[in-house]
Amino acid sequence: MTKVAKVRDLLIGGGNPISVQTMYDAPLVGDMGRIVERIYKLKMLGCDMIRFSFPSPSDRDNLSYIAKHSPIPVVADIHFDYKLAIMALECGADKVRINPGNIQSKEKSLDVARCAMDHGAAIRIGLNSGSLPSGSGKKSEIMAYSALSYIEDYERIGFENIVVSLKSSDIDTTLDSYRLFSSLSPYPLHLGVTEAGSAVMSSIRSTWALGNLIKDGIGDTLRVSINGDIEDEVIAGCEILRALGKRRSGVRIVACPRCGRHTFDSRGFLERVERRLLSLDRDISVAIMGCSVNGPGEAKDADYAISGMGRLAYLYKGGELVGKVDMEGAESALFELINE
Ligand code: SF4
Repeated sequence: MTKVAKVRDLLIGGGNPISVQTMYDAPLVGDMGRIVERIYKLKMLGCDMIRFSFPSPSDRDNLSYIAKHSPIPVVADIHFDYKLAIMALECGADKVRINPGNIQSKEKSLDVARCAMDHGAAIRIGLNSGSLPSGSGKKSEIMAYSALSYIEDYERIGFENIVVSLKSSDIDTTLDSYRLFSSLSPYPLHLGVTEAGSAVMSSIRSTWALGNLIKDGIGDTLRVSINGDIEDEVIAGCEILRALGKRRSGVRIVACPRCGRHTFDSRGFLERVERRLLSLDRDISVAIMGCSVNGPGEAKDADYAISGMGRLAYLYKGGELVGKVDMEGAESALFELINE
């Protein structure tokens, strides 16, 4: 059993549910109210924590606003400048992610830990295989042993509210690093495959790497890094946990892959409704089918279903046909049925 890190009210490690996180995909500028609205939507999709780059003191007021209004814990991502890490903590960040190896000196890294202690915040020691301290040996070993030595430094001043990540774009290095570290240390682990690529590539690579680690009992929080929408990062992270039985079932969407028989645009329909469906606080299955061949059959096995045939959409509940509507009204009819 790992130790527990506390990030606002989110507990990481110690057998607590594995949390899902993402990283905001733009500079922290513009309309902060809209960013907070987006965080609320991410939370409804299953996001437990969000990280922001904090590269400049000019973002200070915006980070303070986000930290104050976000419904989920906020992490500031800092490189090189320990003063920025201290500023982020003073702004109310619940955690800072730093690589102590690039924070100028050990004493400055310890100043960050002292500040985190004063503010009841956490630190993620975030190491990447692309920016390791020089040393001989395998990258996995350099990462794991570097993290251990940074933890020893923090423990000497009494700071233990720590999460560790050991990321690489190489799957084997990722697996080896996390396995080695978890065999040597009780600190909770943030899992991820870095620079994993597009949604399809990253989902496959992350599912393989993170799935194997979690099945071995390794990992306490995760991010699926996607070169795409951060909403998809959250959806992918939640799906990995659901597939492993580590998260309640939620909404399970069944959608036909389409073939030459499809008579309505089930792909476009799925794109329009997917995030709205996944934001529902329900444990249900919803089928979206494209024709009269398999549509009715799949519809019978789902709690709710829609099967398009030409300009009409047939609606099913509990396997029973309960109505048909014009395609224009299909989306609202489906949600009305689910929300009845
Ligand atoms: Fe093709 Fe119909 Fe099956 Fe969809 S449900 S894949 S359109 S046969």
